[in-house]
Amino acid sequence: MRQRPFFCAVHAYFGKGRLFLNILFYRDSQDQLFHISPRQRRVALALSLIMVSFTAAALFFAQVRLPVMASFFPVLSAWGIMGDILTAFILFNQFRVSRIVPLLLLACTFLLTGLLSLCYLLALTDMLPASGFLASGPQTASWLWGFWHTLFPIGILAFFWSLRAKLPVLPMRLLPRYLLAATGIVLTVALLLLVLATAGQGLLPVLVEGGSYRRLIDSGIGPVVWAFCALAFVFSIFPYKERGVLRVWLSVAVLAFLLGITLSLAAGERYTLGWYGSRVDSLIASTVVLLSIVSEVNKLFLRLTRQHEELEESKCALEEANEQLKELAGIDALTRIANRRKFDEVLRQELNAPQRQKEHLSLLMIDIDFFKAYNDNYGHLGGDMVLRTVAPKLESEALAHFGFTARYGGEEFAIILPGHSEQEAQQIAELMLESVRSLSIPHRYSAVSDQITISIGGCTLYPGENTSAHDLIGRADEALYQAKAEGRSRFVFARSGRPRRPFS
Ligand code: GH3
Ligand code: MG
Ligand code: MG
Repeated sequence: MRQRPFFCAVHAYFGKGRLFLNILFYRDSQDQLFHISPRQRRVALALSLIMVSFTAAALFFAQVRLPVMASFFPVLSAWGIMGDILTAFILFNQFRVSRIVPLLLLACTFLLTGLLSLCYLLALTDMLPASGFLASGPQTASWLWGFWHTLFPIGILAFFWSLRAKLPVLPMRLLPRYLLAATGIVLTVALLLLVLATAGQGLLPVLVEGGSYRRLIDSGIGPVVWAFCALAFVFSIFPYKERGVLRVWLSVAVLAFLLGITLSLAAGERYTLGWYGSRVDSLIASTVVLLSIVSEVNKLFLRLTRQHEELEESKCALEEANEQLKELAGIDALTRIANRRKFDEVLRQELNAPQRQKEHLSLLMIDIDFFKAYNDNYGHLGGDMVLRTVAPKLESEALAHFGFTARYGGEEFAIILPGHSEQEAQQIAELMLESVRSLSIPHRYSAVSDQITISIGGCTLYPGENTSAHDLIGRADEALYQAKAEGRSRFVFARSGRPRRPFS
C-alpha cells in the first residue's frame, strides 16, 4: 500500500477545513490559502544565504571595536520587541480560530522572547532601578540575554515536538482556559527570570567580567545556548519540502537567531562589529515571521475583496437573469407575444384598475378560421408559420390602439383594449379582420375565403361595470362562437351576457 505523505496524514488527523494547517504544512495544491509559493521559498533561501555570507564575513572582524552608538541598541531593540509581541498577538489569534495547540506554543515562545528582550533593553539602558528589589547589577543584562537566547530555541523545539506529536485540536470549551493559563505562565516565567537576574543575581554564575564575554564561553553556558539554537534550526528545516509558509520563515528566523548568537559569542564584548551584527540578526529573527504572516493576511484580504466584488457582480447578473426569466415566463415561445399566463395577469390588473370606474374595457377573442384544415394540408410547420405571421400583425394593430395582445392557446388570440367604447372596439375589430386579410396568406381549404381569415368575439364593459375575468372571457368566447356559427371571417360583440348582432 502506498504510504500517505506526512502532511496528508496530519491534515486527515486534524480534520478537514483546518485552514491554518496550510500555514504549517505544505500541500501540493494551487488554490490554498496560506500556501507557500515557490517564489517565497526562493526569497527565504536567498535571504538565508545573504545572512550566512554576511555573518561569515563579519566573524573575521567580530572583535573590531566600533564607536558607541547610544541610540542604535534601543531603537533596534524596540523594533524587535514590537516584532515579537505582534507576532505573538497574531499567533494567539490564529490559535483562537484554529485551536491548533502548536500555534499556542509558538505564540508563547514569541511572547516570552519579546518580554525577555524588553527586560534586556531595560537593563542595558539603565531603566531598571539602581537599588532596591529589581536593581540591575553587572550580571543582569547578560543573564537576561542568556535566558532569552535559551528559551527561544527551547520554545521552537517544543513547537516542533508538538507538531510531530499531532496533538488533537483543542475542544472549544477549553480554549479560554488554555489561553489564560498560557499567557499567565509566560508572564510569570518572564517575571521570575527578571527577579532572578536582578534580586537573585548573586545566585547565578558570573558571565561577563570587565565587559568581556570570555566567562560566558568558558563556563560552557554560551556554547550550550548556541547548541540549543543549532538544534532548533536543524529541527526547523526538516522535513524540508513539507514546510508551510510559517515554518519556512520560522527556519529563517531561527537561522538569524543562531547567527546572532554566533556573532555575539565571537564578538567578546559590546559595541564591536560582531555585537552590532548580532543585533541586526536578532532584529531579522523577530520580524521575518511577522512579515510573512502580515503578507499572508494581506493576500487573504485581497482575495476577500476580489471575492466580494465577484459576489456583487454575480448578484447583479443573477438579478438581470431573474428579470429576463420573469419576462420569458410571460412570453409565448412560438409567436414571441405574451402568453396565457401574462394575459391572465394583465386582465386581472385591468379589471381592478381604478380607471375601471371611468373607462370602458373591451376584450376581443380571436380564432383563425379553418386552421385544422390548414394544418392538415400545408403541414404543421406551415401552420406554425401562419401563427408566427398573424400574431405580430394582431399585436401591432392592437398596440396602435394601446391594446394588449396575447396568444390565448392553439390558434386563438386575445386582445385587451382599455379605454375604448364599444363602437371604437368594434372599429378596431374590423381593422383586425382587415389586417389579417391584408397578409394574403393563401388557404385553399378554407370554406369562407382563399386566404387566412379570423373570427372575433368581443365584449365591452361599461365604466364601473364589475365582472370577473372568467365571466368576461366567457362572454367574449360566446360571441366568438356565434361569429363562427354565422359564417366566420367576422366579429360579433356580446354585452351584459347577451350576444348582439354584428355591424358587418
Ligand atoms: P374553426 O374555423 O372552427 O376555428 O376551425 P379550426 O379548424 O380552426 O378549429 P379547430 O379548433 O378544430 O382547430 C384548431 C387547430 O389548430 C387544431 C390544432 O392542430 C391547431 N393548432 C393548435 N395549436 C397549434 C400550433 O401551435 N401550431 C400548429 N401548426 N397548429 C396548431
Ligand atoms: Mg380554435
Ligand atoms: Mg380555428
